[in-house]
Amino acid sequence: MCVQRCPKCNEDDLHYLGDNCTGEIEDWGCPKCDTCYEVDVDINRHFETMREVVVWVLKHGLQIAKNVIHQ
Ligand SMILES: [Zn+2]
Repeated sequence: MCVQRCPKCNEDDLHYLGDNCTGEIEDWGCPKCDTCYEVDVDINRHFETMREVVVWVLKHGLQIAKNVIHQ
């Protein structure tokens, strides 16, 4: 992962905070000046190597485990 500088204070240690529900925008934050940024992300979906998985789901919809089916 490349190092990016905060445009406000020039801190070079931006922290990854998470992504939005589609994963195409990430949230990054500067620990020095407490500024949050949205970063556009390019996603490459490799359907040619996708694997079938089994997912266990709790009642409230949280994904708790995922196993790749080995063939
Ligand atoms: Zn900053």
